Amino acid sequence: MSFVVGLTGGIGSGKSVVARLFAERGVPVIDTDVTAHALTAPGGAATSAIRAEFGDGMLDAEGALDRVAMRRLVFAEPSARKRLEAILHPMIRSESDRQLAANSAARYVILVVPLLIESGDYRKRVDRVAVVDCAVATQIARVMARNKLARDEVERILAVQAARSERLAAADDVIDNDGELAGLPPQIECLHRQYLALRSHVG
Ligand code: ATP
Repeated sequence: MSFVVGLTGGIGSGKSVVARLFAERGVPVIDTDVTAHALTAPGGAATSAIRAEFGDGMLDAEGALDRVAMRRLVFAEPSARKRLEAILHPMIRSESDRQLAANSAARYVILVVPLLIESGDYRKRVDRVAVVDCAVATQIARVMARNKLARDEVERILAVQAARSERLAAADDVIDNDGELAGLPPQIECLHRQYLALRSHVG
């Protein structure tokens, strides 16, 4: 098996941008968020279980998970999140395992897990934790701009995620993304060299 670097960070911290920089260096990137989207897209493997659990109202006209309706339900009824996760998490886990196995010849792989810190399970499954970090105010501004959400909607999402300090405490490596995008490539280049070296010590 390859050395697995778990890449995480709060909403809007810049995980996708960072993951792309690793991919550009030839590193396989397995993104659990991409998997979750595929599972809940029209015809996705999770959609029939979602219909059975929540009814037709939780799917849109194309048969995809209706994210707006789901977000509303979860705020009204927090236990709905657990019911959705009970469907999605085992599917995401087995798809991640499949992709890890398919990339087992790689020197190392990046496994993007937005809620890695919150999930005891994933922390056991990665060899190292890399955290994309920025100030909370920066996160809020980015997500408001990208998702066209009001400040209080972003703050509600942040409230159910780990605090910045908890993420930093769990990090083996911290990627600072509070500044310009141009600040990222030198940091990723440096980590890439470190990860290649780590792998060569292990195996
Ligand atoms: P999510 O948790 O919502 O999936 P993420 O952590 O993957 O988010 P990105 O999608 O990479 O975050 O970045 C969030 C938004 O902020 C995007 O619109 C991205 O283009 C922008 N962004 C990321 N980093 C920077 C930066 N350093 N400067 C300016 N904009 C940035």
